[in-house]
Amino acid sequence: MENKGSKFNMCWDITSKCNEDCKFCYRNKLKKDLSVAENRRILKSLYDSNIINKITICGGEPLMYQGLFELLESVNKPDDVSLSIVTNGIKLAKYDSHTKKFIIDKDLMNRIIKHFKWICFSIDSSNQDIENLVGRNNLHVERIRAILDYLKENNSDVCIKINSLVSEQNYFEIPKLYEFISKYKFIKRWKLFRYLGDNNSKEINDYYEIKDLKFEEVKNFAKSIENENIKISINDIDTYNGTYIMLKQDGTVEISNDGELKEVLDLKADDIRQINNIKEFNKEKHKKTHGVKF
Ligand code: SF4
Repeated sequence: MENKGSKFNMCWDITSKCNEDCKFCYRNKLKKDLSVAENRRILKSLYDSNIINKITICGGEPLMYQGLFELLESVNKPDDVSLSIVTNGIKLAKYDSHTKKFIIDKDLMNRIIKHFKWICFSIDSSNQDIENLVGRNNLHVERIRAILDYLKENNSDVCIKINSLVSEQNYFEIPKLYEFISKYKFIKRWKLFRYLGDNNSKEINDYYEIKDLKFEEVKNFAKSIENENIKISINDIDTYNGTYIMLKQDGTVEISNDGELKEVLDLKADDIRQINNIKEFNKEKHKKTHGVKF
């Protein structure tokens, strides 16, 4: 199949398993995870396709996928593809109640650093009470701080990104979160995602959905930041439409289309290069939205 020259980024929800239970979580638990052997075929076909720049492994919690590193080690990655991982950090830092300190899993951290160019941590507020409202565990802020402090002392050359979900429950704390983030000079990217109201529960959507004016406040704040160390990007409602290539844990590819996720390919049988012909996928918008060089 002809490669027309465009290269894309994609997100791979490799598992729906998670060791956290955020109320707003969007993961689809109905689709089953594939085996390492099945995912190996998919990963190889992605690498061979010559149209993928960057693969962000997410989930669920990707470190809960049994055989993640076996999978990555089983296929030679081309130099021009970079890998990124999004994690909640729980497996990276265990809390020791005796010393009241976090113990970093150095072996796991080193494996991650070996395979992934970017490590992305999810944190929505530097205020633990707000994180509790969002539904994250009681130690989330301190855990992420402990991991960042560890990296600062030991691996300050890794590329770190932060993902934050902006909802009605945390938008007013975003400036404080920026203060927290900006202390770590090796954090190179911060992505703010608007809560889209895509949970099945109306109650949860009502609780988290953020009004336009409030999200504008967040955007204006982000635009006012002058910091050449960190690239900040914002995902508002229209940013999602047609721009993300989302590979789900069962091998299907979904594209966001007018607020709905539409299944457009199944990589167990289809070739990712067919994405070039999918009308719901907006290549130009994808390049503008995800065209950050890695
Ligand atoms: S950490 Fe992510 S995947 Fe896990 S429950 Fe929270 S939002 Fe969902």
